[in-house]
Amino acid sequence: MSVFRIFLISSLVFFVSGTLQAAPVSATAKDKGPPSFDPPLTFNWVRVDGPYIALTFDDGPSAKLTPRLLDLLGAHHIKATFFVIGQNVAEHPEIVARAAREGHEIGNHSWSHPNFGKMSDEAVRRELKKTDDAIRSATGNRPVLIRPPYGSITARQKKWINDEFGYKIIMWDVDPLDWKRPGPVTVCNRIVRNTRAGSIVLSHDIHPGTIDAMPSTIAQLEAKGFKFVTVSELISMALPETPKPAARGEAAPSNSRPPQG
Ligand SMILES: [Zn+2]
Repeated sequence: MSVFRIFLISSLVFFVSGTLQAAPVSATAKDKGPPSFDPPLTFNWVRVDGPYIALTFDDGPSAKLTPRLLDLLGAHHIKATFFVIGQNVAEHPEIVARAAREGHEIGNHSWSHPNFGKMSDEAVRRELKKTDDAIRSATGNRPVLIRPPYGSITARQKKWINDEFGYKIIMWDVDPLDWKRPGPVTVCNRIVRNTRAGSIVLSHDIHPGTIDAMPSTIAQLEAKGFKFVTVSELISMALPETPKPAARGEAAPSNSRPPQG
């Protein structure tokens, strides 16, 4: 092998590893993998041509809080996505049915909120299947999205879960840490400050402060011109990946993402 060929190969390796570091992955999705021509399985955000964002609410439904949130979303004609826990769906199927009827998307967030990254495939499969069944029996439709509890999932799990269930794996790029209950003003400010076109905003409809934060959060996001869609709608708007990975950061600065915790 000539020196020139060795130089070429090492340049290529350097280029590819530089590309990986430049990819806008969040701290919760380090295993996004190298660029490939397969359709992406995992989304932290979506590169879109327009002010579209997806609000997502995890861990419900909550008997008291989710209906309040649905009233608010309905008043604003906003569609959101609920990553529900199967146990809670079994307890309150009518709330999940209402959300689906009103145009919101329902995603699988496991049956009992365990840490998938530390579980056997069989145990993960049971969690997903029971929840998939509960959602289907409440709404008449199977979910097409999963958000793993704590964002904990291995690259291998993503692959087989997508193969078996057809789910896309949905993370987030805006995290107000509302589960720490910092108060509605803080939740609102964190969301409004960090949301960009294509953002997937994480929060939880089981904390009163989160629901209290939503009227001003939604009003401020609307004032900034954002349009609210479900996660599947946002993904359907995804622009094709550009062949030059560097263009992702440089050509679309509004879509570049600081890492989030
Ligand atoms: Zn959760």
